Amino acid sequence: MTLARAHGIVISGIEGLVVEIEAYLAQGLPGMTIVGLADTAVGESRDRVRAAIQNSQLPWPSERRITVGLSPASVHKRGATLDLGIALSILAAHGAIPEPQDVVCIGELTLDGRVNPVRGVLVAALAAHRAGFSRILVPHTQVAEATLVPELSVVGVSSLSDAIAIMRGEELPDFDVVSTKPHTMVVPDLKDVRGQVLARHALEIAAAGGHHIAFLGSPGVGKTMLAERLPGILPPLDDDLAVEVTAIHSVAGKLEAGTGLVRVPPFQAPHHSATVAAMIGGGAHQVRIGIASMAHGGVLCIDEAAEFDRVVLDALRQPLESGSVTVSRAGFTSELPARFQLVLASNPCPCGKFVGTGTLCSCSPPVRRRYISRISGPLLDRIDLRVTLEKPSIVDLDASTPEPESSAVVAARVQEARDRSSFRFRDKPTLLNAHIPGPVLRREFPMEPEAHALLARDVTGLSARGIDRVIRIAWTIADLNGHARPSVNDVAQALSFRDGNGAWMAA
Ligand SMILES: [Zn+2]
Repeated sequence: MTLARAHGIVISGIEGLVVEIEAYLAQGLPGMTIVGLADTAVGESRDRVRAAIQNSQLPWPSERRITVGLSPASVHKRGATLDLGIALSILAAHGAIPEPQDVVCIGELTLDGRVNPVRGVLVAALAAHRAGFSRILVPHTQVAEATLVPELSVVGVSSLSDAIAIMRGEELPDFDVVSTKPHTMVVPDLKDVRGQVLARHALEIAAAGGHHIAFLGSPGVGKTMLAERLPGILPPLDDDLAVEVTAIHSVAGKLEAGTGLVRVPPFQAPHHSATVAAMIGGGAHQVRIGIASMAHGGVLCIDEAAEFDRVVLDALRQPLESGSVTVSRAGFTSELPARFQLVLASNPCPCGKFVGTGTLCSCSPPVRRRYISRISGPLLDRIDLRVTLEKPSIVDLDASTPEPESSAVVAARVQEARDRSSFRFRDKPTLLNAHIPGPVLRREFPMEPEAHALLARDVTGLSARGIDRVIRIAWTIADLNGHARPSVNDVAQALSFRDGNGAWMAA
């Protein structure tokens, strides 16, 4: 045979695409070319494949002119995942092995013929299954990740020789298959947070309704502690979201070998020196997944928000509105999911003491305004809940004070509240109070008449958006309290969160 085919996968964004690899051996000047929009890494596979084949004591068609075609030819091929497929197609064209049938092969070859792990194995496995393949050959350390797609038969190989043996129908000697262990993430518990009754309650409301939340308070008052505990009271990711989140982490190269699907909502807390590229993603060759996408399905915590570059905060508008980010690079753009819950934390002013009466603060009003306005413009408008934290009192910190509620107890209430809103919005495209447009909420889901009257009386100074925020929060409070619709007390509570007890009004 002088022409043979194999199949591999290239990854673009977090999507996999099956690539047909054709190897053709012709008479002519010996050499090898790869055609079909390959990037440098794919181009270099020429040298890797040749060295790997020769160093595995396999026959290299040195007298022939080798052409390797990659199709669809219109799609850019990036990375080294195609090495294994290219090697197998050449060996099959040369008659050394049967042509690979009904199998997709992924793996990067080393010069001595070992198979190196690649990023995005889960994504590749999903793409192979969607394209109708029943078998996939992957680097042996990544078998567990590929088996997350249960319909596929997964074969792990540690070297090109292993892959050849499989193609020849031989049994591989046993090697250690890394078995799947559940993905774990240690989330700190809410019972460690003493005092802060109001902020704890706000965090519970945020979890129940999917609301973005902002904490304002002096350094060391517990803003970060609270933010870190949000994933622990959110419901675990459902099947579809878990696959999506795991795929993102797989392409980012952040998935630990042998772990199962990510079920705990992710938590990302970038340093304030983060750049737009780090936050949104980008990169010259391989897509670098941004922090916003790594937080997909979970929590993005912007701590010390006023210290961030304004441009970086502005860049978060797109994911906050659309739930995705667009990464543009030379030649093409890809859209990556980035739907997260935002927790924003900040000092109230440069000296950090403008809380309560504000008497300890040494900053002048213009300095304070400038500080807060760094965040208030781009983001604050999209944040339903604003809370000011006070220092915990001596009583709160006293060891004899009963231990606060644990995350498990709060999580159970959050789940119940979410069950209520899911039922209420069962015909809507979204099931969370935070995502229901204000006009829909006002028109189709009236509050109790007295609640409505209170809001109508108390809205002075609130914009239309501000009123919708109060209504959304009132619904979540009603869901937590087991009320069929917001009562006058639910609305009164919601109103108390409208401006973070006045501190944000400095802007
Ligand atoms: Zn100050």
